Amino acid sequence: MPDIYLDNNATTKIDDKVLEAMLPYLQELYGNPASVQYRLGRIASEAVEQAREQVANSLQVSSKEIFFNTGATESINTVLRGTVETYSRKGKHIITAKTEHTAVLQTCEYLTKKGVEVTYLSVNKDGEIDLNELKDTIRQDTILVCLMAANNETGLIHPIEKIASICQEKDTLYFCDATQLIGKQDINLQDIPIDILTFSAHKLHGPKGIGALYIRRKRKPIQIPSLISGGSQEKGFRAGTLNTPNIVGCGKAIEIVRPQKQLRELRDNMEKRIIETVPQVIIHAQNGNRLYNTSYISFRHLKSAEIMTSLPHIALSSGSACSAGLLDPSHVLKAMGLSDEDSYASIRISLSKYNDKSQIDMATSQIIDAVTVLRNNSPIWQLFLDGLID
Ligand code: PLP
Repeated sequence: MPDIYLDNNATTKIDDKVLEAMLPYLQELYGNPASVQYRLGRIASEAVEQAREQVANSLQVSSKEIFFNTGATESINTVLRGTVETYSRKGKHIITAKTEHTAVLQTCEYLTKKGVEVTYLSVNKDGEIDLNELKDTIRQDTILVCLMAANNETGLIHPIEKIASICQEKDTLYFCDATQLIGKQDINLQDIPIDILTFSAHKLHGPKGIGALYIRRKRKPIQIPSLISGGSQEKGFRAGTLNTPNIVGCGKAIEIVRPQKQLRELRDNMEKRIIETVPQVIIHAQNGNRLYNTSYISFRHLKSAEIMTSLPHIALSSGSACSAGLLDPSHVLKAMGLSDEDSYASIRISLSKYNDKSQIDMATSQIIDAVTVLRNNSPIWQLFLDGLID
């Protein structure tokens, strides 16, 4: 049986055109882009600059504002640690949300131990933050607001235009982790006053281990020191030999990616079928503005691990890719008010352009069958049927 890959918020299949663009730089065009004294080096350097233009064009910014690195996790570490270092005279207060990616939460935890004060905004049952709470939380000594564009687990989209305007009004830097939104929705940074933004190419059919950081050029320049010491690559902002093939792939991926809005209908039909066939399901963030490719569903009184084990040919997730394998319930669902039990019962299905209706129909049937069989054999489900538990 062929595998059905429905875990596209974790990572995506590389696009053939992206691979094709990268291959020469893994083979004959292997020069170091810093070695511009000779032809092979200059070719590599030109390829890097072309990729920078491709990223900049997609975001509608200047290529001078784009820095390549290994992706969102590195950017998050660079920006959070860096702004704390640079802006210590202004203050030591950062605002983020309880539902951010682990890379943000873990870095904040580290910074807290170093004396930084972090405010974690709460969310409602759909995962939405309260913009008035954000407004009220920004203080004189707030150095950074760090709020993602779209949540990797639920797909909930934050109102980044409004967040950016609030931060601009309050003269506070806004850093947006747009890892899940780039490629799924166009972002024009001419119109949205986001100060700093990041994404990883592997979420949009590019290669893994590469991404970019956008830092807006402002009258009062944003100052973020390099996280990594060494050579003067990326204008001294990010040391280390540039990964030309990956950078070329990142540029190509963002150039050719297009929103796949037809996935919304497939996702909605799948959810409708599940709700109509299976009792006791919860669709997370169902009333929120969600990414069209994401569905996060609790099959109450089961464990996501047992559902996934019984469907080895379907790639599903129990939530954040980075915390899968750990026994902790999803911090995102917890923040949305879900019980640990319902959290453990959650499966995330995330689609891409490589999924078609027949795949999704087949996967939906198999998920429904697996849930039915597991529940029929479950003493806990029997307790529920007998009215002994909620
Ligand atoms: N931020 C979000 C919203 C993500 O979904 C991810 C990956 O799952 C990351 C950050 C980290 O990306 P990477 O592992 O490519 O550094």
